[in-house]
Amino acid sequence: MTRPAPGGEPMALAAAHLRAAGLRVTVQRMAVLAAVSESAGHLDADALRERARRVTGALSLQATYNVLRALTEAGLVRCTQIPGHPARYEVEHRDNHHHFVCLRCAAIRDVECTVGAAPCMEPRLPAEYEVREAAVTFWGVCPDCRGARPDTSSM
Ligand SMILES: [Zn+2]
Ligand SMILES: [Zn+2]
Repeated sequence: MTRPAPGGEPMALAAAHLRAAGLRVTVQRMAVLAAVSESAGHLDADALRERARRVTGALSLQATYNVLRALTEAGLVRCTQIPGHPARYEVEHRDNHHHFVCLRCAAIRDVECTVGAAPCMEPRLPAEYEVREAAVTFWGVCPDCRGARPDTSSM
């Protein structure tokens, strides 16, 4: 007999995803996965911990990292490493999207597959290597940091 999870539907959904991935369902895992799912993506462990804590109560950063590692290894969460910054997490959609990272503020935005479907580019590798996906990071400066306003002159 299972009681309704605290936190309602997102938690129940998270529990279903954990079960489907073959992971043991714990409140911490549910809460962190729900926090990732409910965010727009690309949050770091500290921000996710803040959100998950509303459900779990006390939750250490180390415990959050442990949960995120398990979720990433299970293929539920995608982890993006940015040199010099904490890793960012988002729901793994297996859409082979890439990232644009701002060199100044480290803001991340998704970049769709460059051409067609995954892996969407042809690496120079011997034919024996089977490539399934590509993860590309485009580095640059975001509009906020450039001080750019939306270009309305052509509209
Ligand atoms: Zn920026
Ligand atoms: Zn992304």
